[in-house]
Amino acid sequence: LRKNAASQFLFFEKPMTRAIQEKIATERELRRALEKGEFVLYYQPQIQLDTGTVTGMEALIRWNHPEKGLISPYAFISVAEQTGMIIPINEWVIRMACQQTKQLLKDFPNLSVSVNLSPYEFENRRFVHKLVKLLDETGLPPHHLDLEITERMTMDTERAITILKRLKSIGVTISMDDFGTGYSSLSYLTDLPIDRLKIDRSFVQNIQGKKEAILPAIIRLGHNIGVKVLAEGVETEEEVAYLKDKCCDEAQGYYFAPPLSYEDLIEFLHEHHYK
Ligand code: C2E
Ligand code: CA
Ligand code: CA
Ligand code: CA
Repeated sequence: LRKNAASQFLFFEKPMTRAIQEKIATERELRRALEKGEFVLYYQPQIQLDTGTVTGMEALIRWNHPEKGLISPYAFISVAEQTGMIIPINEWVIRMACQQTKQLLKDFPNLSVSVNLSPYEFENRRFVHKLVKLLDETGLPPHHLDLEITERMTMDTERAITILKRLKSIGVTISMDDFGTGYSSLSYLTDLPIDRLKIDRSFVQNIQGKKEAILPAIIRLGHNIGVKVLAEGVETEEEVAYLKDKCCDEAQGYYFAPPLSYEDLIEFLHEHHYK
């Protein structure tokens, strides 16, 4: 028995140590990447469905690794969150998104940029001050910045309302990201001071009647509580037609454009005469 316990201990210890070591190595890599300027923002246009104009774009981070090339956020955001590196990384994201959007306003004065928040920031009191500082520093008027939060961050509804009110008092807008995939209680949705629901792509795709059963209901729900509704991950003409028919306000997805480099975004905006 003793022997068994010992070998079990060894069995569990080794991989755990390795996982921790890997996390530490990745943390060091992320810090270095930030210092060396290896992160880049891509922007995915958000389209107003009835007019076809671009209302804004979502900033999506990539890691331009010297050897590995462009690395997806799926590969490093979770480690960044676990190690706290998400704080300086997202500060960089917000600063860059504000700077670049401020530039775009000269030609496209109605654009707004969406950034993804992490739970850490959402809960941190100092985040509001940081946000004010970043807006001030970059000169982007607050109503051109949209913050994407997830249902998970609003599970403690009372607390979320307080935080959201504080954020909204700055003048930024709030979107609920990946809507439908979280655990939020629908009855509290009306209490949350949000401006937009982003319907997760899984409800937009036509699989097993999910689209017919749920999509129109979420759109109506959003409109009933007085918020705009954006459909994510729109890939086909049929999906666009369906969303228009159901009076969805906005859409984002490969059908219109994949996430684009800043240069390609500018080209896209000019090409489509979107104002
Ligand atoms: P998300 O916020 O749900 O972002 C949408 C993801 O769907 C993006 O992946 C985008 O490239 C992808 N997508 C867009 N249109 C389509 C489509 O038509 N079809 C399909 N199949 N996919 C589409 P991406 O850029 O790899 O980002 C993945 C996730 O990483 C994001 O999911 C977000 O949760 C996180 N993330 C990205 N950038 C940041 C950031 O700056 N900060 C934080 N905290 N998280 C970020
Ligand atoms: Ca998002
Ligand atoms: Ca999303
Ligand atoms: Ca998602």
